[in-house]
Amino acid sequence: MARNPKHDCLFEPIKIGPKTMKNRFYQVPHCIGAGSEKPGTQAANRAMKAEGGWGACCTEYCSISPESDDTHRVSARIWDEGDVINLRYMNDELHKHGALGGIEMWYGGNHAPNLESRAVPRGPSSGASEFEYLTYAHEADKDDIKHLVQTYAEAAKRAEQAGFDIVYVYGAHSYLPLQFLSPFHNKRTDGYGGSFENRARFWIESLTAVKEAVGDNCAIATRFAIDTLYGPGGVETGDDGLKFVELVAKEGILDLWDVNVGDIAEWGEDAGPSRFYKSGHQRAWTDEVKKLCNIPVLGVSRETSADDMAAHILSGRLDIIGAARPSIADPFLPNKIDEGRVEDVRECIGCNVCISRWEIGGPPMVCTQNATANEEYRRGWHPEKFNKIDDEYSVLVVGAGPAGMEAARVLGERGYGVHLREAGKEIGGCVNDIKKYPGLSEWGRLITYRQLQLDKLKNVEVHTAVGEMTADDVLEYGADKVVIATGAKWSPNGTSSVTHDPIEGLDASLPYICTPDQVFEGKEVGQRVLILDADGYYTGVSMAEMMADAGKDVQLITSLGSVAPYTHFTLEAPNLHRMMYEKGIHEKTLHWAEKIEEGIATIYYLYRDGYVRDTGPKLGKMPRRVGTDTIKMEFDTLIAVTERVPQDKLFRELKVRKSEWEENDIQGVYAAGDCYAPGILADAIFSGHRIAREFEAKNPQLAQPWIRERQIWGHETFPKISDRETQG
Ligand code: SF4
Repeated sequence: MARNPKHDCLFEPIKIGPKTMKNRFYQVPHCIGAGSEKPGTQAANRAMKAEGGWGACCTEYCSISPESDDTHRVSARIWDEGDVINLRYMNDELHKHGALGGIEMWYGGNHAPNLESRAVPRGPSSGASEFEYLTYAHEADKDDIKHLVQTYAEAAKRAEQAGFDIVYVYGAHSYLPLQFLSPFHNKRTDGYGGSFENRARFWIESLTAVKEAVGDNCAIATRFAIDTLYGPGGVETGDDGLKFVELVAKEGILDLWDVNVGDIAEWGEDAGPSRFYKSGHQRAWTDEVKKLCNIPVLGVSRETSADDMAAHILSGRLDIIGAARPSIADPFLPNKIDEGRVEDVRECIGCNVCISRWEIGGPPMVCTQNATANEEYRRGWHPEKFNKIDDEYSVLVVGAGPAGMEAARVLGERGYGVHLREAGKEIGGCVNDIKKYPGLSEWGRLITYRQLQLDKLKNVEVHTAVGEMTADDVLEYGADKVVIATGAKWSPNGTSSVTHDPIEGLDASLPYICTPDQVFEGKEVGQRVLILDADGYYTGVSMAEMMADAGKDVQLITSLGSVAPYTHFTLEAPNLHRMMYEKGIHEKTLHWAEKIEEGIATIYYLYRDGYVRDTGPKLGKMPRRVGTDTIKMEFDTLIAVTERVPQDKLFRELKVRKSEWEENDIQGVYAAGDCYAPGILADAIFSGHRIAREFEAKNPQLAQPWIRERQIWGHETFPKISDRETQG
């Protein structure tokens, strides 16, 4: 199909300093857990986006010095020749597709924990980080400042050698340049502190040094939080924010503004989860910068609508559409718009599970919508291309939740004849409930994307409202292979990670006790609601908000140290806590229930036992003083968000009847998603996707090996021990 002419503006080239970008789609710096230590993963992930039409693709934040080491998290690094070699490979791959490569040069100041390098970061002032506790900076003197500016310039030269086209001085998210600019961090009284001009001096000097070092060959960019959202205590748009934009314009040292808002301690104000922020939520801030600039301005805000993007360009609100998450969820977003296939765009749902992996540190990024994200190199997966099978095989997929939908879609793309059978009235499984929670409607995109793709596949039949299939039904169905994807349900008896046993009296068949599944089925909920949450992610807190919105009095008890701790990693936590406070939802952490009676829950503090352990074993006795303190809490309805139970009865029955498979011409039966083991949505979708990709393996239930990037013993290292100036 041809491109819709109203989207033509998105495909006009644009000059960025000495470089020209072929269109207006720009993958801004974002983490994937590859850094420069996993060059294959780094290059393949970014190159996939270049193949998908992105005009520029950047690294994640890229450290310029061992003083800026974010271990346990993974950043890129441009410290030495080894990093130059590894990152050059990424740029070579980008250039094959006509995309520009960008590097976000990063020095973290007091936010860099330096757990690997053991170096001490320098900053405008000594002071503990509000992001990374127990981390301080050394207050830089004038020699230090000169050296730091030089460090940016030298890193820029290495970046140029590595083939980068766009070189950033990264100041957003309250890293070093912004720490100098913001009075929140900068407490100096010399020429680098106090007045606006003094606070801006370090950033201006760094940009000037980088421009002098590589400005003839590379475009110079800066990522700037125009507003740290602290009010007058930080950088405000109407004050230092716009003044800085004007000052940089006057100096003529910049080719590209990459503008956002917020800081690092609450960077969900920038990478806003869909629960709180919809696409375009930062436009009012970028508008202010655009009014003052005659160089290109790009902004982010999880834009996935081609119409909205085109409107931003045509109205002059932005010159370039910046995107991180939309490019993760769909690396081929630009090409799909170009080909007039906007309905095929796999839209980001704003869950921030991708970000959660960076926040946890170490593991590679994953994406809920796009199971191939970060699997391009190590598993050889392409998001839009599938190895076709030669023979005609038929597959029965039982259950059209996240794993079943994805397995059916990928098997269909691969040429299998697929029957996807769903007991309920519609496909989507648990997502049909989840999308009803306050703020989570966009998570429904997990269904809409797959529904549309399944509809397009002529070799896939989707049967809904067929009721639950029995083992006899499956055996007699006539499929060559079977995937069971029957999901999970919330425990009806209170079993959880706390005791691994039911809670006395907790029985969801009673009228005053519900599981979340029963709430969505319409079971009546009384006025005073007590939620028991040992899950720790969105269900407990979302249920609490839904009940509060319905006018109920809500209390949430959790065994965990804070409410919904996983939402710290998805950047939802700060505003979730504000929401709970504002909506009057009371919480009690580190508590659990030992007994439930009608209207009364007996609750205990998890650490009520004595803190001194017995000095030796005593058979049949707890080895410390046994606490017995409890409190009674009244309720009308208790909602138990305790643990999910795999719905694996059908799978297990079929395994028991394995001897009957051959006579029924069944070659294999596999389980995908939550019915194998409950997990987050990203895991369920990945599970369905992986089994479908590896369907011809001897046992697709178990994952095939992948490429592990690591140093292989006996090969050269960069640097070598002999490169050290002293061996003392
Ligand atoms: Fe979007 Fe979620 Fe994928 Fe991140 S993990 S890109 S927020 S769908």
